[in-house]
Amino acid sequence: MRAALLTGFSRPLQLREVPEPDAVPGEVLIEVRAVGLCGSDLKLLAGATPGTSLPLIPGHEVAGVVARDGDRLRRGQRVACYLYESCGVCRWCRRDQEVLCPSTRRLGRNRDGGLAEYVRVSERVALPFTDTISFAEAAVSMDAVTTPWHALLGRASLGAEDQVLVVGAGGLGLHAVQIAAARAVSAAVIDPVADRRDAALELGAGVAVDPGDAGRLRGWPDVVIEASGTEEGFRLALECVAPGGRIACCGYRPGSSWTVDSARLSLGEISLLGSRAGRLDDAVAALRALEAGEVRAIIDRHYPLDEVNDAVDALRQGRTVGRVVVDVT
Ligand SMILES: [Zn+2]
Ligand SMILES: [Zn+2]
Repeated sequence: MRAALLTGFSRPLQLREVPEPDAVPGEVLIEVRAVGLCGSDLKLLAGATPGTSLPLIPGHEVAGVVARDGDRLRRGQRVACYLYESCGVCRWCRRDQEVLCPSTRRLGRNRDGGLAEYVRVSERVALPFTDTISFAEAAVSMDAVTTPWHALLGRASLGAEDQVLVVGAGGLGLHAVQIAAARAVSAAVIDPVADRRDAALELGAGVAVDPGDAGRLRGWPDVVIEASGTEEGFRLALECVAPGGRIACCGYRPGSSWTVDSARLSLGEISLLGSRAGRLDDAVAALRALEAGEVRAIIDRHYPLDEVNDAVDALRQGRTVGRVVVDVT
């Protein structure tokens, strides 16, 4: 089968013929149709993700068609792949925190991902969806909708009275705005890119400002989603959050330390929350939200598999509005 292989860090992906994967019992083989790319792929390609062994087929936002009957799924069924395959028995798995499972296997990270004609995954994580949404929409929802879903509704326990600020209106941020808007929760956005601010306003944000104008939002949000993964984004989140507020950080940069004013943290009773991807339940909920039209998957552009390196370059330039998708046929 044709696959895009990562054979060395900070080098283009190599398009090669590789053997088709063999699904073992409990797994299903999926004929891949669409793969979303995101910021964590750039970290992976640059060698900034610890524990990555090469060669590897990247791609963790994956949707396609079941290639052979499994125990539960039937050939031809449309499925999207939840990212984490966890042990199910450790203390974190028992508490529904499967993303923290020490023996979890992550699609396109420490097992081959979707930038190939076929991928094998545990049948448990292959989530069916209806033909009311496209393969591309289902694929990107596995991270770009699941992650803000978990951050807002899980980690930050978003309530009807809350006001939400989204720092960074990239792939995660534009979907966070929609999740808030669908609950009639007021949302504001900070992003330096005008096209992204416009998109956020169109998707239901009441206000969208450049970082230089963030002072307008000081003391306004009860919940901040930090999705930029930058030190400046974190600083703005802390600066703006209202007393008693929660900051859920989805963005990060390996090896970078950010500082917090201790008085602001204690006296303002600010809750700092790390938020990592989402649970299997969140991924299912994200698919249902797309099917219901509550959230729309925002896709900047599609690329064929042969042009995967152009897709990576477009993402790296940092001006895309929503996700970049590779169509694998
Ligand atoms: Zn991702
Ligand atoms: Zn576990």
